[in-house]
Amino acid sequence: MGFDRYSRQYILSEIGAKGQDRLASSRVVVVGLGASGGITAEYLARAGVGYLRIIDRDIVEESNLSRQTLFTQKDADEGLPKALAAKRYLHLVNATIEIESHNSDLNASNCDELLSDVDIILDGTDNYPTRFLINDYAVKMGLPWIYTAVLGMEGVCMAIVPAKGPCLTCLMEREPEAGSFGTTECVGVLGPMPGLVSCLQSARAIRYLVEGDVDLNLVSVNIWTGDFRSRSLARRKDCPTCGRGEFPYLG
Ligand SMILES: [Zn+2]
Repeated sequence: MGFDRYSRQYILSEIGAKGQDRLASSRVVVVGLGASGGITAEYLARAGVGYLRIIDRDIVEESNLSRQTLFTQKDADEGLPKALAAKRYLHLVNATIEIESHNSDLNASNCDELLSDVDIILDGTDNYPTRFLINDYAVKMGLPWIYTAVLGMEGVCMAIVPAKGPCLTCLMEREPEAGSFGTTECVGVLGPMPGLVSCLQSARAIRYLVEGDVDLNLVSVNIWTGDFRSRSLARRKDCPTCGRGEFPYLG
């Protein structure tokens, strides 16, 4: 079933029929449906991931349309919730998969409901408090997640597999002080930048779902200069999250 739809994946030796079956039985949550989360959700829907849970608290605005490819002018004119507009679009792309949408703000009180019962969590958020919440939850539950961030011309992507490699706290110790870290709203972002990071995230997610393993390097990209860097980082022995098991973001 679905041979025509997935024929270009079947013939890849890395995927094959076995890998395609694994994708069909996989469960993924995408947190945040801005540019990076939206594009990742689209690639996974097109790849045939059997169950997608998508979460966003915002409505579609005209300023989103330069890079958030799931949304149209009509969605912005109608002020549709991103979760609803994304679900409609993704179902038009692939009606054979299950899509569960939540017009919600992920927080400590609902993270167990929204992040449980999946194989991997994909970060499409735009803020560090939510990323640290995801990191606490993922490390505590032993769930893999894939971090992405974009700003201006730059972006990063890193798969975090608890106990196998560094977690977000190993990487940056604590969330940047409020106001010390720019946002796309004040610094800007070039449309293709989140697309590039989403492609890295989508490919890592597909590989993890198919092989149960993935490259854990931190990839940094500047889309203006074309500079790519891939660095292998070590776990911090004294990491409060993955070392000492402290999870303050879970409340
Ligand atoms: Zn850590």
